Amino acid sequence: MKKALVLGGGIGGVEAASLLSKSGFRVELVSNRDYFYIYPLSIWIPVDRIKPKEIKLDIKHLAHTHDYTFIKDEVLSISKNKVILKENGEKVDWDYLVIAMGGSKMSHKGLENTYSLCGNPDDALKLRDKIKELVSRGHGKIAVGFGGNPVDPSGIRGGPAFEFLFNLHDYLNRLGIRDKFEITFFAPMKKPGVRLGEKALQMIDQMIAAFHIKKITGKKIDEFVKDGVILEDGEKIEADAVMFIPAVDGHSVIKKSDLPKNDAGFIIIDDTTQVEGLENIYAIGDAAEIVGPDWRAKQGHLAEAMARVCVHNITHKKRIKVESQKSYKKHLSVMCLMDMGKIGGGLVYKCEKQAFLLQMPTIGHYLKRLWGIHFKLVKLKKIPKVPYLN
Ligand SMILES: Cc1cc2nc3c(=O)[nH]c(=O)nc-3n(C[C@H](O)[C@H](O)[C@H](O)COP(=O)(O)OP(=O)(O)OC[C@H]3O[C@@H](n4cnc5c(N)ncnc54)[C@H](O)[C@@H]3O)c2cc1C
Repeated sequence: MKKALVLGGGIGGVEAASLLSKSGFRVELVSNRDYFYIYPLSIWIPVDRIKPKEIKLDIKHLAHTHDYTFIKDEVLSISKNKVILKENGEKVDWDYLVIAMGGSKMSHKGLENTYSLCGNPDDALKLRDKIKELVSRGHGKIAVGFGGNPVDPSGIRGGPAFEFLFNLHDYLNRLGIRDKFEITFFAPMKKPGVRLGEKALQMIDQMIAAFHIKKITGKKIDEFVKDGVILEDGEKIEADAVMFIPAVDGHSVIKKSDLPKNDAGFIIIDDTTQVEGLENIYAIGDAAEIVGPDWRAKQGHLAEAMARVCVHNITHKKRIKVESQKSYKKHLSVMCLMDMGKIGGGLVYKCEKQAFLLQMPTIGHYLKRLWGIHFKLVKLKKIPKVPYLN
């Protein structure tokens, strides 16, 4: 039985591990967390619409369900023929290595003064508690923003920042205290959200205006301070709390490795997700360089599709025919069920051939909830996957 070693227990890693096991491989999955965290649903933690335990799946349980071995450990280094783990030492005994460790965050001066949705559940809880504190006080100023990665723009993560922004507005509105809060949206690019398509951008701009959210864009961030954000021209956004999503950068372990990587530190792969020039090593999801149109973005649905493509290509490796290999590029799209709390949401979709925005007042929110339930039940192998619902 061939052995596959999967690094990373996020969206890409758990999908790859279960599919490899289903394809007859002996699989070991190494991750530094013993839970799989469903990031797309974490936007509701700070507005108290969901509890972290509802969006964490125990990887030991997933491993048991899908028949693979889980090792909780920190990957310290990766080279072409060796992986070093903090607790378990060296790993050299793989036939196939799949790297799915995600990325690191772009660094910013004073980032420690911000609240995050991209870290672990405790970070999102700190933001929830801060919002609760401001709500009890009865007034406050909250700034919400996201940054870019100038070296590799696919690392941008704007969708969740907009979702949190609109959820926050809706939450305060429902408490009847929205007028006591100043909410500011900020981003360094001139047209933040343009990757989602012009129609989505228009919708976002209309929402921002209709919800009386202040918007400051096109100015670089100089520094985050205890009471706000300083911009490049010296302007200060005063805030009691800042929620900021830095762009994704290459993983710090990958940056130190001898794997081929681009200038941002993302692993260079070919269309089949195989690491450039390395026969038995694959990289998927946020860890990998995505090549394609200008609007390409690292997203969870792409990480999952890359896992499927990667496993297909590994299992068809012996059939030398090039046509039996699949490409991840046909899955390149921007897909976001943008939630706005109980106001509703919009389905934003963009690929090479088409772009559309489907506005869904009220029902959009419940569809995202439904998507979350479906996603969990599929991972737990309780129901089959509904086509297109990923
Ligand atoms: C708040 C938020 C909302 C989002 N919403 C959406 C959405 O609505 N739709 C969408 O498509 N995408 C969304 N995304 C993006 C999506 O979550 C990512 O693109 C996706 O998680 C990438 O999957 P991955 O498996 O490549 O990496 P990750 O999910 O980041 O997984 C990496 C895994 O590797 C582990 N790991 C990292 N370093 C090490 C190490 N040194 N040793 C061992 N283990 C390690 C981590 O613990 C983690 O389990 C969102 C992201 C965020 C942060």
